[in-house]
This record gives sequence, structure tokens and C-alpha cells, in this order.
Amino acid sequence: MSIISGGAVRLAPAAETLAQAGVSLRRARLGVLGGGQLGRMFVHAAQRLGHRVTVLDPDPASPAAAAADAHLRAAYDDPQALAQFAESCEAVSTEFENVPAGALQRLAEHGCRVAPAAEAVALCQHRLREKRLFTSAGVPCVAHAAIENEADLAQPALAALLPGILKTATLGYDGKGQVAVAHADDLGPAFASLGRGPCVLEQRVQLAAEVSVIVARGTDGAAVHLPLQRNLHRGGILAVTEVPAAGIAPDLATAAVAHACRLAEHMAYVGVLCVEFFILADGRLLANELAPRPHNSGHYSIDACDLSQFELQVRTLLGWPLVAPRLHSCAVMLNLLGDLWFDAADGTTREPDWPAVLALPGAHLHLYGKAEARRGRKMGHLTITGATPERAREVADEAAGVLGLPPLRG
Ligand code: ADP
Ligand code: MG
Repeated sequence: MSIISGGAVRLAPAAETLAQAGVSLRRARLGVLGGGQLGRMFVHAAQRLGHRVTVLDPDPASPAAAAADAHLRAAYDDPQALAQFAESCEAVSTEFENVPAGALQRLAEHGCRVAPAAEAVALCQHRLREKRLFTSAGVPCVAHAAIENEADLAQPALAALLPGILKTATLGYDGKGQVAVAHADDLGPAFASLGRGPCVLEQRVQLAAEVSVIVARGTDGAAVHLPLQRNLHRGGILAVTEVPAAGIAPDLATAAVAHACRLAEHMAYVGVLCVEFFILADGRLLANELAPRPHNSGHYSIDACDLSQFELQVRTLLGWPLVAPRLHSCAVMLNLLGDLWFDAADGTTREPDWPAVLALPGAHLHLYGKAEARRGRKMGHLTITGATPERAREVADEAAGVLGLPPLRG
């Protein structure tokens, strides 16, 4: 692997020509902005299809770069690095929605094929723009108000949204950038604690369930989707995904898929898009947020579908055919956070008992190769596949017990 820092070394040309026994093979070099676990799984999928991948990420310990053919180690907005990236890659995707949309714009200006497009990523980076999109596409979402400055805190209509959650409009993830607001008096301090930047106040709704839909849409407008996922969050972070989505009425599942496809269409989106939904006790389905990339709730597709969300990302990037993925096994995915590396009783560090986990039938362990475990940090995931939902759940509960995680329904 070549490591390029500071733009000193030139990368190989965009498509490599391999002369072997008289046959020239062209292999596309694909690029990914962001070098976390999503990038790493993109690299795996692209390489399986014979492509070479360059990762642009400033972190020398990037999990994606460790698997990639080349690592361009630079800031996402470094103009020289972006020029070099565009020159060496035929097509570029992103794995990280907080990558500056301007970087994608610049790559497109350099003539690089970019999917998703900068405008789509910019929209998904901003909760208020997202809410406007939901409204204009006719997709219901949670009651909310924009709080862009101190003066907005005085709107009388805010009282109807309490108790609520104040969220920063940008840069939030895994429950970060959010504060619970119980009373009107708490609003000012909450706004101050989030840095007084643009925010959205959402009504806190009683969740009966959370689900998500992952759609892949090509340049020709054709879209396919993964089966509906049911998600359980703990402390604002995804903890468990279950497919098929147990206990979700078929008409709600159909509506969620239709909403997700409509949103992708409305944005003229190209690439993989995840739409998160809330289902309320009264049966209402509300869009929560978008992710312009593969999503944690779609990781099960690597082991339980005949086409994964990462291969779909590669195919959309290359303009290759999209085929509806088929779920060949029922699946439960457990996220493995850094907390598992700390003993619950005394806080000493430990290695989870992987052999005991891997002794379970249908266990597929994915560790992202991160050098340091921290509480709340996504270190890996475990997908349990089974012939029936009950079997997958039963084994996943056993795995949770081995790892010291709460039971699925806990
Ligand atoms: P993030 O970008 O951190 O994923 P989300 O807006 O999806 O932010 O919030 C994380 C989780 O917090 C959601 O999946 C849900 O469990 C809970 N949550 C967020 N907003 C609300 C709300 N308005 N009412 C009830 N629960 C919420
Ligand atoms: Mg979310």
C-alpha cells in the first residue's frame, strides 16, 4: 500500500493497466472520503469486485486505509490533496456524512464521478434542510421548530413541543449534539450548552419502534432496497438491528419503503441512502433522519443478504446494475462498542471472549481493527444469522449473555 501525505507522492493513474499474458485488464481505482468502518467495508466490497481503492482520511490509524490499496493522508478540505485524489480516482463516494460537502463539489469539478452528489450530502448534513425535504416530499416527520438564534427561543409555539429534544442542526451523530428539554426554562441553557449555533427543537415522541430503510438508486433512477430493519437504540446509539423487522404491520413496512424511495427520487439521489423512521404507539410513521451512505443498521446485509449495502454502493458508483437484495437468512446484529473491553465490575480492561462467541451457530464477527477501545466507540459488530427469526434471536441472546450485553428485549 502506498501512503501519501502532504501531496508529495503521486498516485498511480486512474485506471491501472495490467499486462498479463498479452491481455490488458483495466481496474478502476475508486476513492472513498472518510476512513472509518463504513469505508473499510466499502473497500472490502470494491476489492472483491476487482477494484483498487484509495482512502482519503487524515487519521494515520484509519480502519479503512488499513484495508485499502492506498491512503491519501490529508484533511478532507485540502485543495491539493483533493486535486490529487480526483486525478487518481475514476469515481469517489463518501462514508461519512460530516465530510465537507464542498470537498465532493471540488472533486466533481475536477471531473471525477461523485456519488452521492455534494448537494445531497449537504442536505443530509443539516437537520433543518432534512425536515424541509420531508415536508416537500410529503413524508410526515416529528413536530419541530427551527432555533437558529437567541431570538427564536421566544417563539410561543415552542411550548407545544415540550418535553422535547434540542438537536444541533449539523455534526450530530450517535446521540451527540442533543439535549433533553423538559421545561421552557431549560431551553436557553440547552441552546447555550450546544454552542448557540443553528438547532432544531423536536417534540419528544413515545416510540413504539424504530425502523430504517436502505435504498440504492442509480443514475437511471432505478432503485432497489434492503428489507425493512427494526432498530433498538441504547443511549442514542444503535445497539441491535433485527431483520425481518418483528412486530411491524405490513402496511407500515410498505409505507416506510415507499417513503424512502420517494425521498431518494425527490433528491434525484444516486448512491446508497438510509432513512430512519419512528413508529409511534398510535401507529403513525414519522421520518427521523437521513444518512447519505450505507448505515450501521444495514451491516447485517453482508451476511444475511445475497447483495450487501456496500456492494450496492460500489455498483451505484460505477453505474453498474442494481438488483434487489434477497434476505437469505434471518438476522440479528449486535453492535460491539468499546464498553465491552472494560470489565463491568471493576472497570479493568479485558478482551471479550471471542472464541465463546464464535462457537455459536450463525455467528459472523466483524472487528474494525481500531487500535484503541473507548466507551461508546463502535469497535465492531456481530451478526447472528438463523433459519427463523426466533432462532436468530435465541442465539443473539446467548451471544449477548457471553459478551455481557443486556438481553435483546431488555
Ligand atoms: P443521531 O444522528 O445521533 O442518530 P437521531 O436524531 O437519530 O440522531 O437520535 C438518536 C436516537 O435518539 C433516535 O434513534 C431515537 O432513539 C432517539 N430520539 C431522537 N429524536 C427523538 C424524538 N424526537 N423523540 C423520541 N426519541 C428520539
Ligand atoms: Mg439516527
